[in-house]
Amino acid sequence: MAEQQVSWLDQNEKLLPLLEKPHLKGEEWYVIDHRWLKQWKDYIGANDVPGGQETNYPGTINNENIIDKTLDPLPDYGHFVLHNISENVNYSYVPKEVWTTLKNVYGYHQMHPIKREVVEMGDSQTPTIELHLIHVRLTRIEDRNNLDIAKDKYYSCKVTIDTVCQDTIKLFDCKGVKNYRIWSKYKKWTLLKGKYSLDQVGLKDGEILYLETTKSSSFDCQKQPDILAFQNGTEEEPMDYCEDQEMDNYDEMSVVSPCGLSNMGNTCFMNSALQCLVSVGTLTHYFVSNKWKQDLNKSNPLGMRGEVAKAYADLVKEMHSSAKQMHSVLPRQFKIAVSRFAPQFSGWAQHDSQELLAFLLDGLHEDLNRIKDKPYVETREADGRPEDKVARDSWKDYTKRNDSVVVDTFHGQLKSTLVCPKCSHVSVTFDPFCYLSLPLPQIRNRCITIILLGKSPISEPTELHVKVEKQGRILNLCESVAQAANDRLPKDSKERINHENLIVVEVHSGHISKIYNPGDAVSMIMDKDYIRVFELAAVERGVPRDKYKLIGVYERVPAANSYHKSFKTVGNPFVLAVPIEINYDTLLDMILVRMKRYIKHSDKIEKFEEVNKLNGESEDASEPFALRLVNMYGNAQVAEMTLKTPLKQNENVQYVALDWESDENRKFFLDPHEERYVKKEDAPANLRVKDLQLNDCLELFTSEEKLSESDPWYCPKCKKHQQATKKLDLWSLPDILVVHLKRFSYCRWWRDKIDSLVYFPTKDLNLKKYVLDPSIDEEDAIYDLLAVSNHFGGMGGGHYTAFSRRGTKWVNLDDSCVSRIAEESVVNRSAYVLFYERRNPKKRTLHCN
Ligand SMILES: [Zn+2]
Repeated sequence: MAEQQVSWLDQNEKLLPLLEKPHLKGEEWYVIDHRWLKQWKDYIGANDVPGGQETNYPGTINNENIIDKTLDPLPDYGHFVLHNISENVNYSYVPKEVWTTLKNVYGYHQMHPIKREVVEMGDSQTPTIELHLIHVRLTRIEDRNNLDIAKDKYYSCKVTIDTVCQDTIKLFDCKGVKNYRIWSKYKKWTLLKGKYSLDQVGLKDGEILYLETTKSSSFDCQKQPDILAFQNGTEEEPMDYCEDQEMDNYDEMSVVSPCGLSNMGNTCFMNSALQCLVSVGTLTHYFVSNKWKQDLNKSNPLGMRGEVAKAYADLVKEMHSSAKQMHSVLPRQFKIAVSRFAPQFSGWAQHDSQELLAFLLDGLHEDLNRIKDKPYVETREADGRPEDKVARDSWKDYTKRNDSVVVDTFHGQLKSTLVCPKCSHVSVTFDPFCYLSLPLPQIRNRCITIILLGKSPISEPTELHVKVEKQGRILNLCESVAQAANDRLPKDSKERINHENLIVVEVHSGHISKIYNPGDAVSMIMDKDYIRVFELAAVERGVPRDKYKLIGVYERVPAANSYHKSFKTVGNPFVLAVPIEINYDTLLDMILVRMKRYIKHSDKIEKFEEVNKLNGESEDASEPFALRLVNMYGNAQVAEMTLKTPLKQNENVQYVALDWESDENRKFFLDPHEERYVKKEDAPANLRVKDLQLNDCLELFTSEEKLSESDPWYCPKCKKHQQATKKLDLWSLPDILVVHLKRFSYCRWWRDKIDSLVYFPTKDLNLKKYVLDPSIDEEDAIYDLLAVSNHFGGMGGGHYTAFSRRGTKWVNLDDSCVSRIAEESVVNRSAYVLFYERRNPKKRTLHCN
């Protein structure tokens, strides 16, 4: 089993700390299947489980699930890795020393290790493991009409254009070449400079490069080689990697053409926020047309010496002016300016796009505040004035100190009403807002689909959809499953299920990946998980709980194409409760009984058993199968089983494989279709959780709440802190309404992301019923969606993109990549900040008063 003996404890002590090493430029790291690595960590006792347990023995390293099998491995690089998989979910990195030891101790299933180098990436030159090479298609300029002869090559992003040119010359066997140069069609036919590396010129995956050669020593100046003829030609356009080839009608885009923003390493949060803001036509026009210069306020102590406004203006202009020549710009100066005044955004960690937006809206406002000397304004109580007068007066007071393009565009007014529970004093204030932070109503229940396997060996597996509380335990899931199953039975049926006999098992591609305990949280189950629930039979046979143990049972057949005899799992594993003291024969019987539903020729199996018994322990070629102890995943044998003491007493769950002598053997005895069971139906509509509407969030935002003990209100009448009731209402609305969906909850003990789909309209959002100001007509309360900042992934990381409407078309702005997107795709569960535009924009009357 083990080629080299290094104890699990040694592995724990020597290898584990190495996994935490920083990535240093030039180092070699190896890619390894994450599930294997996790299992190995369990085995060496790294994951809060006692080390050295045989059931956790990880077996041979196998990278099969992460390898891109469509590409041949390269020497000194190994296999290509699939693109749609994630670090620490599908794969992980281990440093060279760890890889070498693991490979020696456990063996490796594939021929080629997946070796990757650490290179300095991005503008920040952060050392990063280069997981994927850049795919480049090379061709000669004269072959541009025949892309079939283009050659596919894969390069590190550190390779220079010169190297690529020389490779192309070699590939196409160009003779007598004195000079050469290479063109990028994607970059609107620009020449790429030889000394730059692929990442410096921003080469994209799948890009086609065109080599031009000459037999004289220099080219005829910068003349493009018949490029115009090519562009206007009738031949089919070469396929590019971004779906922005449809982006033909730039002209109809108002004010701004979509220009991407390069990622400088974890700066997609910034790019996403900026793209939303740039979508606001009036604001962009204000900067592009230099109107901002008149308003620049360098002396405002609340501002940032005008530097943030200036950096933003420069960026917007660059994005605007370069849109025809370039596809993306690098917001480096802008980031530097922001980091200077808001150190929380410096460094290269991922941040929150909404926090940056809030900072930016405030920063731009103060940098462009037309009020140079802010007058002192006293806060006033209503004192019996009519409500709309109070609202108007407080807006006037506010604009005495705050007057900027940001106020004109983004600021509205909230009405806040506080009622003292003791003296019933009512306090009404009107406060400006720059964006709305809307809470998401909690969805308390979720629907889980499971396959129930009843204890009767001949009963069919049943698919059940059950509703459970999101915060519930596995015990609650078992209760729901038992109830759902029993509801289908007559009241006095003997088949009724006791939830205590149910065991919940997660199965992943034919392997048991987790056996849940009753106290485990339901939230550990993901929607996509394949959950099987087994009803244990032994419990009702009167065996006390401490006298039986769980075993997981795999079926295996000999693996094809393997040098030494090994087995692969087939069918669906199952779980049994068996008495602790059990012998080989009884165990085999129990397993065969459990498989009874799909065993054919059971008479023949009995005959085999007779023969075996006669032969005792001696090897018998006619034996159709044998039981072996295996690890949890069924992919490595941990011990032979003898006829006398098959199971260990000390381990909680053990795993047994029924190894068939041959695949044919298995096919002879089993009905091969029986045990395969896939999800058939979606959950019925009444169990499906209703999608949230934006209105639900607005209702919650405007609902009355009682202030908490830790956050009381000072009642001016009682002169005491009181737990008042508070209600917020929208009083007036801005032209651009920014809506922040509070997906991240920060509690004292936990932080979480709510990734429920909130349905929000892309057109005709009518806010009339929420707006209290009577002077606002219905038509002034109609909004259309303008932009969305999306957040994908979990807390403290993930990826940000923006959707932006340009005219009537929607574009997806994913860092430097710009592509068309259908309006239907804009509403998605990653939507995080929404920008709505008033259909009839107007200077607010309040402001003009
Ligand atoms: Zn009071």
